[in-house]
Amino acid sequence: MVPINLGDIRAARERIAGKVERTPIVLSTGLSERLGVPVHLKLEHRQTTGSFKLRGASNAVASLDAEHKGRGVVAASTGNHGRALAHAAKLEGMRAVICMSRLVPENKLDEIRRLGAEIRIVGNSQDDAQQEVERLVAEEGLVMLPPFDHPAIIAGQGTLGLEIIEQVPEAALVLVQLSGGGLASGMAAAIKGVSPSTKIVGVSMTRGAAMKASLDAGHPVLVEELPTLADSLGGGIGLDNRLTFAMCRDLLDDVVLLGEDEIAAGIRHAYEQEREIVEGAGAVGIAALLAGKVKMEGPVVVLLSGRNIDMGLHRKIVCGDIPSISEGAA
Ligand SMILES: *Cc1c(COP(=O)(O)O)cnc(C)c1O
Repeated sequence: MVPINLGDIRAARERIAGKVERTPIVLSTGLSERLGVPVHLKLEHRQTTGSFKLRGASNAVASLDAEHKGRGVVAASTGNHGRALAHAAKLEGMRAVICMSRLVPENKLDEIRRLGAEIRIVGNSQDDAQQEVERLVAEEGLVMLPPFDHPAIIAGQGTLGLEIIEQVPEAALVLVQLSGGGLASGMAAAIKGVSPSTKIVGVSMTRGAAMKASLDAGHPVLVEELPTLADSLGGGIGLDNRLTFAMCRDLLDDVVLLGEDEIAAGIRHAYEQEREIVEGAGAVGIAALLAGKVKMEGPVVVLLSGRNIDMGLHRKIVCGDIPSISEGAA
């Protein structure tokens, strides 16, 4: 039994219609030639707020009743969820408070502030930020909307899977970013619900792959958070994970991990060959193909999940200057 099913995801799509973009999907001729199968790129980095996270946030906010809407929402976020939640809450006229760790890059902070949310910076890890969230829930009555382990968030992210399988019904393989697993859980539930034979492979960075370590251990485990070019994939899955660990375990066909140089190559390819600006997390699907780390089956759909990268860092990467991670590339 999948806790979030096709019915939940279709309901989410109705709920968020008009609040999120239906993003385009394009054939990459370069990658298709290189790999010998059709490779389609789902351009979700062009979503409003610059990532798919708006889907889950919009669905979660729209699912609240009037009393909860009146209290306001709070979340811990490495950036894109906070940004999405700020936007979704503003659209509903609600208060939003976003808690995050000091590892989050400055450009993401500014954007969330600009979107009208209050920001609290706490500690050095996602778990520290999460403690502040729990305090605000207990002391100020705010409603917590976590970045991934929540039914309405997972169902919202799942709407991306519905779009993909409508746009490329014959997809044999879909590459999806994997961090907390809300995206992968929702997308896999949607895609396998419509097309059970389509394989879904999760992609993470080697530096701090919490879901991969947890899947290997057979239960959620803590992993040290490290700076990475794929900063949106940082953070743990929660030792008390309720939904996404089991969904990823049951629905994903495989998980592959990438080094920092490989991620940089993905960003560079996206820019030079596809003419798309994507952040590190957004580029890991392309990076996995370029690195030859995926057992190929075509047609392939590769998700570009976000574009919120510091443009100074992006410029360095496309110039072939891969910043040393110890200098704080995230
Ligand atoms: C959050 C995020 C992911 C990972 O999503 P999870 O649901 O945490 O696995 C991937 N890419 C981008 C750009 C993100 O912001």
